[in-house]
Amino acid sequence: MKKIAIVGGGAAGYFVAANLGKTVGQQTVLFEQATLPLQKVRVSGGGRCNVTHACFDPLDLVEFYPRGKKELLGVFYTFQPGDTMAWFDDRGVALKIEDDNRVFPESDSSLSIIEALTKAVDQNKVQLNFSDGVQEIAKVEGGYELTTKSGTHFFETVIITTGSTPKFWKSLKTLGLKIIQPVPSLFTFNCKDPRIEGLMGISFEQTEVKIINQKLEADGPMLITHWGFSGPAILRLSAWGALKLNDCGYKFDIEINFVNQSKDEVFTFLNTKKQIDAKKNVHKNNPFEFPKRFWISILNYCQIDENKVYADLSKKQVEAISTELCQGRYAVNGKSTFKDEFVTAGGVDLKEIDFHSMQSKKIPNLFMAGEVLNIDAITGGFNFQACWSEGYVISEKLKEIYQ
Ligand SMILES: Cc1cc2nc3c(=O)[nH]c(=O)nc-3n(C[C@H](O)[C@H](O)[C@H](O)COP(=O)(O)OP(=O)(O)OC[C@H]3O[C@@H](n4cnc5c(N)ncnc54)[C@H](O)[C@@H]3O)c2cc1C
Repeated sequence: MKKIAIVGGGAAGYFVAANLGKTVGQQTVLFEQATLPLQKVRVSGGGRCNVTHACFDPLDLVEFYPRGKKELLGVFYTFQPGDTMAWFDDRGVALKIEDDNRVFPESDSSLSIIEALTKAVDQNKVQLNFSDGVQEIAKVEGGYELTTKSGTHFFETVIITTGSTPKFWKSLKTLGLKIIQPVPSLFTFNCKDPRIEGLMGISFEQTEVKIINQKLEADGPMLITHWGFSGPAILRLSAWGALKLNDCGYKFDIEINFVNQSKDEVFTFLNTKKQIDAKKNVHKNNPFEFPKRFWISILNYCQIDENKVYADLSKKQVEAISTELCQGRYAVNGKSTFKDEFVTAGGVDLKEIDFHSMQSKKIPNLFMAGEVLNIDAITGGFNFQACWSEGYVISEKLKEIYQ
């Protein structure tokens, strides 16, 4: 008789199934509502699958998780990115670390990851029920009754890995679990402003972006897009500010430092230019590393005449340019999806979970992993890493019980 059910065949569900071994695998059924499993893995990382991040110290790793930071520490001490890399390597998937520490299969294809996972699940003899979504879950004496298209099934133990599916959160609520209201995370900022009009594609290597009155700030590269601002600094802010930005309807002001220098430093630097490049035309001589188009846009915004030479810049004008480059204020109005890649903040309240086993504290033999939980990270392979680590912890616990 099958004793264990896994509900959801995404990254988290498959990693549980892939690590059960045959003895426990044979006692397990995986229910997936779609015709095929691992659909998000397939499209992830633009089809390349950013499978994890080369950050091997759990204390550093948790810093990338706006929600789940404290709870994941122990989970990462059990299974961290180095273990993920070894896991796939052992199954013949060569991985590579890119310059920004993101890890991809050498094949640059998510199919390599999917093949390794499906092969491991098949070897463990887990029964796969595709197109057989779980419509209802009910707690009964000694276990759970799952209602699916194929009938009503009894299981002693249930693993919930349904991702961010609102319908299943409702079912979990009826079981008595607290659900934190889901809101989007990882988005770009919409901004219509004359200073960035027509400048899409311009990127800045190191910026600092603050949200005014919110105590939220992030640094890193930034990009001007058709709609406003994107790039790592913006995505980080969207993740850390997911709840607050949702609360204010995605209307807020930001302050950007485009040059990685303080306003005083830029002010002094421009005054030096007034001495050493006194006769040079200001518009034609951009002293910064960012593209000239942005320099000209800022000069126009500060009403600096096209024919002006450095020596003729007034103190007020030097002050205005320094302010624009180090404390430029922009009004954000709305958000856009980043390359169709989004995650959801919210889900099962982390206080409900015992992170030693990923088990519900109050409902026996109910385990959860992946995006169904109120855990999410910034981009870079961290969201999958949480799925792998949590899934591994569950499989170890199931082996302890059923082997
Ligand atoms: C376009 C895109 C690209 C991404 N790229 C990356 C990346 O490169 N690296 C990274 O780390 N993260 C990436 N992410 C985030 C990552 O994909 C998710 O964090 C991760 O897939 C979550 O895994 P999961 O198993 O919890 O949920 P999911 O992958 O969503 O899987 C849940 C599964 O459960 C099934 N299901 C739901 N309800 C039921 C039910 N009632 N009965 C049966 N089955 C059910 C669903 O059909 C689905 O197959 C990306 C996300 C998107 C949208």
